[in-house]
Amino acid sequence: MMDIRFQNGGPSAWKAEAALTFVFEGEGPDQACHALEQAAPWLGIAPAWRDVKGKKGEIVTLYGPPAMDLPRVQALGLGRRDAVTTVDLRHAVGSAIRLCREQGVSSVGVDLASLERVAPALKLDRAALAREVVLAALLGLYRYDRWLSDRDSLPADPGRLLLLLDDAFVPDDVREAARLAEAEAAGLCLARDLANSPANVMTPSAFAEAARELAERGGMKFRVLGPAELEAERMGAFLAVARGARQEARMVVLEYAPQGTEHERPVVLVGKGITFDSGGISIKPSAGMADMKGDMSGAAAVLGVFEALARLAPHRRPSRPVLGLMPCTENMPGGNAAHPGDIVIARSGASIEIVNTDAEGRLILADALDYGQEGREPALLVDIATLTGACAVALGKDAAGLFCEDDSLAAALLDAGKRLGERSWRLPIWETSKEALKSNVADMVNSGPREGGALHAAWFLRQFVRPGTPWAHLDIAAADNTESPINAKGASGFGVRTLLDMVW
Ligand code: MN
Ligand code: ZN
Repeated sequence: MMDIRFQNGGPSAWKAEAALTFVFEGEGPDQACHALEQAAPWLGIAPAWRDVKGKKGEIVTLYGPPAMDLPRVQALGLGRRDAVTTVDLRHAVGSAIRLCREQGVSSVGVDLASLERVAPALKLDRAALAREVVLAALLGLYRYDRWLSDRDSLPADPGRLLLLLDDAFVPDDVREAARLAEAEAAGLCLARDLANSPANVMTPSAFAEAARELAERGGMKFRVLGPAELEAERMGAFLAVARGARQEARMVVLEYAPQGTEHERPVVLVGKGITFDSGGISIKPSAGMADMKGDMSGAAAVLGVFEALARLAPHRRPSRPVLGLMPCTENMPGGNAAHPGDIVIARSGASIEIVNTDAEGRLILADALDYGQEGREPALLVDIATLTGACAVALGKDAAGLFCEDDSLAAALLDAGKRLGERSWRLPIWETSKEALKSNVADMVNSGPREGGALHAAWFLRQFVRPGTPWAHLDIAAADNTESPINAKGASGFGVRTLLDMVW
């Protein structure tokens, strides 16, 4: 990953192959980058300024004499000052850093003094801006290229991102913000790698191995439950999904437990880890089935949160325990697969009539949620899952569905998502779903009518949440896979930032 460094001491100390500067519509160089102009005296008279309109998404490369300390500036348009958003800033940085890579630039500076002009419009302070810039740069460069035989000939990432500061010393808050962004980026990139990996590689056992390696590196507790342990735990719903597959199921348990917090209520994060969803006997149509390698994006996001925790300096880590549960299995139509009509007993004791084997996510989550509450009173229980096509239809690719009956918890999650570029939208849990999921022969069916499908799934999960547990469910069925200047086409890592924000 690109190295993040600081250049303090003001413009005379700044040196980079390229610098980024931000321009609102109608601005000239004197307004846009007066600090940068002191380091790059050629900037004000660069002929290419004629092309700079400041339109949203615009990038103009300005060149000065090659021998200068700052010989190149990327002017990034942010559009109208009164309409700019943090998303625009992230996308501008992502596009610019990609352009720098194409141009073969090895060090990229960002002038925080000029960037601060953006701060009031975005209601962010300088440290928060630094965090977003660093994160956007790291995410913009992400690509999943491990299977390309010619990947050595792809343009190399810039080696260094330099935060250019006016201050004599690097302020603590800016340094900490940059470190946090690096940890977040590591978590997001891990989540993307896991979800982008094909199902023949990212099996439940491979996922468990990735978690084990992370736990060792980060000083966390690791446990994994295989088929025998799942049987012993009476996870009948999880096992019903797993039994059609040749690949063995794994329930991955990661625990971050700072010393002296053994008796504190943990934050419990549960992520759906279907490493491939064929639909099972209720098999899916061929079109789009390849995307089902990403049906473990929820589990990947939870592991991404732990990656970020592992990267944070000890004094920056949360002071309460965090438990991650990642039920991982394929959903396959093998000879031993669950049949539509099968009745299984979940770990909680509830009986479920499986009327559609493609509604498998809620089955594995049901047992994971129950397990996560056993013997503990979670301070917070959040599950994240690519759960329903219905949610994707309702909200599109830019938002997750948030289901939560606790208004203050819902508000916290909505706010975190909005701040951090992972927007979610609240959807209801209604008792009417009880009728929709009524079974003649069991306590409930696992799948109801198409209309309101995301709501029924949420209601189903709620049946496995014990009274008094503060719980939220994030349906990321479309938000987990997208494309933008900070997201190479494919897995997005959606949820890592939001969930990480909730652990403190
Ligand atoms: Mn499914
Ligand atoms: Zn699924």
